[in-house]
Amino acid sequence: KKKSFIFMVRTRIPGGKLTSQQLLEELDLCDQLGNTTLRITTRQALQLHGILKSNLKETIKRINDCQLSTLAACGDVNRNVMCCPAPYAKNIYRETQALADQIALHFAPRTKAYHETWLTDTSTGEKIAAGGAAGQADDGFDVEPIYGKHYMPRKFKMAIGFDFDNCVDLYANDLGLMAITDGDKIVGYNVLVGGGFGVTPSAKKTFPAVAKKLCFATPENVVAVVEAVFKVQRDFGNREDRKVARLKYVVANWGIEKFKAKVDEYYGSVLPEPHPTDVHGFNDHMGWDEQGDGNWFYGLNVENGRIKDTAEMQLKTAIREILTTYNPGVRLTSHQSILFTDIKPADRAGLEAILKKYGVKLTEEVSAVRRWSMACVAWPTCGLSITESERALPGMIDQLEVELAKLGLSSEKFTVRMTGCPNGCARPYNSDIGLVGRARGQYSMFLGGRLLGDRLNYLYKDYVPAEEVVSTLVPVFTYFKQSRQNGETLGDFCHRVGQADLAAFAEKFTAA
Ligand code: SF4
Repeated sequence: KKKSFIFMVRTRIPGGKLTSQQLLEELDLCDQLGNTTLRITTRQALQLHGILKSNLKETIKRINDCQLSTLAACGDVNRNVMCCPAPYAKNIYRETQALADQIALHFAPRTKAYHETWLTDTSTGEKIAAGGAAGQADDGFDVEPIYGKHYMPRKFKMAIGFDFDNCVDLYANDLGLMAITDGDKIVGYNVLVGGGFGVTPSAKKTFPAVAKKLCFATPENVVAVVEAVFKVQRDFGNREDRKVARLKYVVANWGIEKFKAKVDEYYGSVLPEPHPTDVHGFNDHMGWDEQGDGNWFYGLNVENGRIKDTAEMQLKTAIREILTTYNPGVRLTSHQSILFTDIKPADRAGLEAILKKYGVKLTEEVSAVRRWSMACVAWPTCGLSITESERALPGMIDQLEVELAKLGLSSEKFTVRMTGCPNGCARPYNSDIGLVGRARGQYSMFLGGRLLGDRLNYLYKDYVPAEEVVSTLVPVFTYFKQSRQNGETLGDFCHRVGQADLAAFAEKFTAA
């Protein structure tokens, strides 16, 4: 019997910003050529799953026809540029989102190969799609001006956020730009380098890292500074061993001072020290909020980013109806959720009514623990997964909701992030509770990160069976409730008391 091959097709969307028509086309594609579901990723992109190899060209053509692109959504290139998606009518948001587009375009590969492969009729050589989608060059260069002959040693991830709102997890990226503001003006950016969460468990030399502060860049020179960092990684990243090829290893091996000296050399002068400000807020932009231009936006929590219809909840149908009824702007968040923007005050009730009609819980009805959770796709889609993630986490959250309610902790805000392998796609290593697939049905449990995303968590327990995850966390919650200090978050508490103290309490608690 002839084998059929299926593919995942990822559309990269700088800052997660798209139109109703573009999202409708992706929904049509998932129904007509995919597995009938669409997935919002943890980097504000979209994934179609189950695309037959014979349908790849049609899928990519249609994505390009609606002015989106899959170019550089994968591979050893600059990946989807993340940016705070809040649609407030303020200069600081417009400027950061414009910078995300500018960076996406500046670092887009210029190769003609993408167009020749996907957007050209191979029998006639005729163009079959417009190409030229946002952030994509279709003019073609024989020599890549930035990538050179060999592209990057490994993927390169960038994000743009604010010190007062780190919703894009700046510290988890190869390069983070933390906008420093004065009122509605961007004064400049703290440039953070060397974050990244990919780990190979069999290779001790691999590790997760939060980024380090490198320097300060002005709005005028920020792209040139980013290019200098990018080129240092291009030229000095490890090209012999892919396991240690990310920028974080160059930064760790050299130390930040030597790294900065090299960036200064590539930039052409000594860059100033970072601004003393650091991240101090995080907003997931869920629920209703006024944009500041008379319109509103609504942040809808999408559990693990999966847009699908089930017997209980027809989320996909509800989203379609919202898009066709109100034609809102759309933003995808880095917590795998969706914002409908530019909603007129008179339409707010109607939008909520559509969600209710199809059994979709309003964000306000979703528990805090579910709202702040996320899981990577893992089984059955990801070839690297060693256990469940997206299919396992919702059931655990059901149980966690019960335990947290018993302890009176239902309104606590903390992140629970699960992945099906140590690669860390759902950013588990800076979360309050990280669950990382270790073996079939077993997880490493990490505690002590936090919502702000600027600190790594620590390994609390290894090889925790899936069915014991919740019972392992109950003593942690109990100790937190009994001994937290004023206003301390779960992550800060776990960080303060440490692994040994927590484990000792849990032992006594379980024996009692
Ligand atoms: Fe990423 Fe691993 Fe999850 Fe696959 S299983 S999506 S590689 S974290």
